[in-house]
Amino acid sequence: MLNDIDFDKIDINGSIPEDETNRQYYYIAKCREYVSNLKKEIGRDLTCSVKTFGCQMNARDSEKILGMLILMGYTPIESEDADLVLYNTCTVRENANQKVYGHLGYLKNKKKHNPYMMIGLCGCMMQEPQVIETIRSKYRFVDVVFGTHNIFKFAEILYTRFESGSMVIDIWDRTDEIVEDLPSERKYSFKAGVNIMFGCNNFCSFCIVPYVRGRERSRNPRDIIREIEMLVADGVTEVTLLGQNVNSYGKTLDDKMTFAELLELVCQVDGLKRVRFMTSHPKDLPDELIEVMAKEPKICKHFHLPLQSGSDRLLTEMNRHYDKATYLELVDKLRAAMPDISITTDIIVGYPGETEEDFNDTLEVVRKAQYDAAFTFIYSKRSGTAAAKKEQLDKDVVKERFDRLLKEVQTIAADRTNRFEGEVKEVLVESVNDHEEGMVTGRMDNNLLVHFKGDESLIGSYVDVKLTDGKDFYYIGEAVKER
Ligand code: SF4
Repeated sequence: MLNDIDFDKIDINGSIPEDETNRQYYYIAKCREYVSNLKKEIGRDLTCSVKTFGCQMNARDSEKILGMLILMGYTPIESEDADLVLYNTCTVRENANQKVYGHLGYLKNKKKHNPYMMIGLCGCMMQEPQVIETIRSKYRFVDVVFGTHNIFKFAEILYTRFESGSMVIDIWDRTDEIVEDLPSERKYSFKAGVNIMFGCNNFCSFCIVPYVRGRERSRNPRDIIREIEMLVADGVTEVTLLGQNVNSYGKTLDDKMTFAELLELVCQVDGLKRVRFMTSHPKDLPDELIEVMAKEPKICKHFHLPLQSGSDRLLTEMNRHYDKATYLELVDKLRAAMPDISITTDIIVGYPGETEEDFNDTLEVVRKAQYDAAFTFIYSKRSGTAAAKKEQLDKDVVKERFDRLLKEVQTIAADRTNRFEGEVKEVLVESVNDHEEGMVTGRMDNNLLVHFKGDESLIGSYVDVKLTDGKDFYYIGEAVKER
């Protein structure tokens, strides 16, 4: 967060500071000197590119890494022609790993033509020991490798690479440490993700996250609020509070605090207009959270409630700790408290052992819950998880079920989306429209996208938009007035 730090005051020839934040600024300063000397030597700027695979957690981590690189003196670019290319990897699906290896082959060729090029790998995939072995033996041209627990040490790791001239691999099994106040480069000037906790304790049978992100650790609420106040002072009006299961927030703090209490504190930050959060696990969604959400106008009326399966039998096998009836009760409670709320979900089709009856239970929940959107996934075997040891289903059966589910989900979502046609809603403008010149794209409080006439000057502003044309999963609208 301290992007305006005075590097002249850091004595890079003095002793290494003990405090972790100061230690990392010390190493950023050392990298900065190295990069500055190299730029002079080769007579040009040095560029960097951070590519993110996976979820919002990774996207947020990439912002932190990019923030450090910019302070070191690198110029960010999109292309992989950069002098430093870093892949922040995901390992939720097994084929994601193959994708990264494929990209590495491509980078190897680029490195042959650029003697100053550095290649880095980090993120969840690096927490898998067999991946590290593969990189160590087959991808010797990679320069730095680190994991999910020591991102804060990136500058120190990179500096070690600069000094040693050989590959540096630094992977931690776990950490209890949360290092505050490191730099960050946000993708958007007006909205930001804020980590409120790290890790997960749930061990859903299909998920690798607890193995690669470690156990739950909550950030101190004072640090969260301080970060949000700084973001607001810097022009941010919308924050998304991030955690694998935000309902567990505060359980690891000395002074216990619930997520609902944290939300109330966050809403008190002056100048903040919208608060979002994800993800909330159905096993422990308290009434208190629904009440706070309903009464607090700053909290966006969008709830992502992952279902995964509608079959009680499979939910038990998945270690999800809820059943169909309690899940549907939660949906009813959310809709009773906030009739306009948009509810979205994740669903897995083809989990090992799924029968037609199990699948019909999922379809039944989909019909009853009336989701505004659903992210549907074909179960993909993930080595290292409990479900990977079970017998896998026939691919054709799974594909046929997937198509049926998708059709159902899309029909319901189209009806739900189009229900606001003709109404005027507040939209936060996020970008110019990539596909149609003269149009901008924004998001309503319930997370639906709206495209309407406008230009770049509107990005970051709130505009009242009449939703003239419902297009099943987005709207075309007309600006009524800018707020
Ligand atoms: S709650 Fe389950 S699905 Fe979500 S991150 Fe934790 S283990 Fe994975």
